[in-house]
Amino acid sequence: LGAPALEALQHADVAALLPRPTGESDKYRRGVVGIAAGSQRYPGAAVLAVSGALRAGAGAVRYAGPGGDAVLAAHPETLVSAGPPHAAGRVQAWVVGPGLGDTADARTAVEQVLASDVPVLVDADGLRLLDAETLRRRQAPTVLTPHAGEAAALLGRAREEVEARRLDAVRELARRFGATVLLKGSTTVVAGPDEGRAVRVNATGTPWLATAGSGDVLSGLTGSLLAAGLAPVDAASVGAYLHGLAARLAEGPLSALDVADAVPTAWRNAL
Ligand code: AMP
Ligand code: MG
Repeated sequence: LGAPALEALQHADVAALLPRPTGESDKYRRGVVGIAAGSQRYPGAAVLAVSGALRAGAGAVRYAGPGGDAVLAAHPETLVSAGPPHAAGRVQAWVVGPGLGDTADARTAVEQVLASDVPVLVDADGLRLLDAETLRRRQAPTVLTPHAGEAAALLGRAREEVEARRLDAVRELARRFGATVLLKGSTTVVAGPDEGRAVRVNATGTPWLATAGSGDVLSGLTGSLLAAGLAPVDAASVGAYLHGLAARLAEGPLSALDVADAVPTAWRNAL
């Protein structure tokens, strides 16, 4: 028998993986996350991604894009710049895509973060602006976080096909794009780019997560774990674990911002 096809992170695995600040930690070593998200039309997505990153222990968050006013109103601790990502300063991981739209500026944002030498998480609108060649050429890791519809578009298939064969879909995306892929749904499945490894499954979430913007929180949260130095598959699966646990602990109807706000409680429960 070979390696198991599926594995689930257990409580002890998550506890061991969660980055904890030590006496020597400073905000830069804790991890600076860059968020390139939001647009004139969807400034809220930027706020949600920034919230997810801050609640997951980022040392600092740099935001690049047109949603700076909304971001600062919600999170005055954010380092905001209105220009493209390359002008934002040094980060340890980038998150690009939530609410980005498909303008020329959105394309530039995706191109610039993919040209960087740090881990990049691509979600939502960013996924529509990808090409497999660019991703395969990257030296640093890339994490893609599609839901079934976005995965179907990336594969050029019908959404129903992806939903009926989620494990095949996540593995095929990981192989095709040379990336770690987190496929969202009522459970979340994560595959890394090297074939032969088990697919990780997470089922901590609840159906209350099916609410606008909850995916944007997950991107920021996972970006924070990447910036803290977790390996891509670990960042993605611990991200999904905490995001789901946050919703479970909130017990009942929640907004995406509530999910972000519950992440520190989920974190304490996961230790
Ligand atoms: P998005 O589609 O980008 O807004 O992301 C939605 C988030 O909610 C993802 O993390 C999904 O895994 C999660 N989610 C959506 N529907 C469910 C469900 N029925 N049960 C558990 N989690 C869900
Ligand atoms: Mg989404």
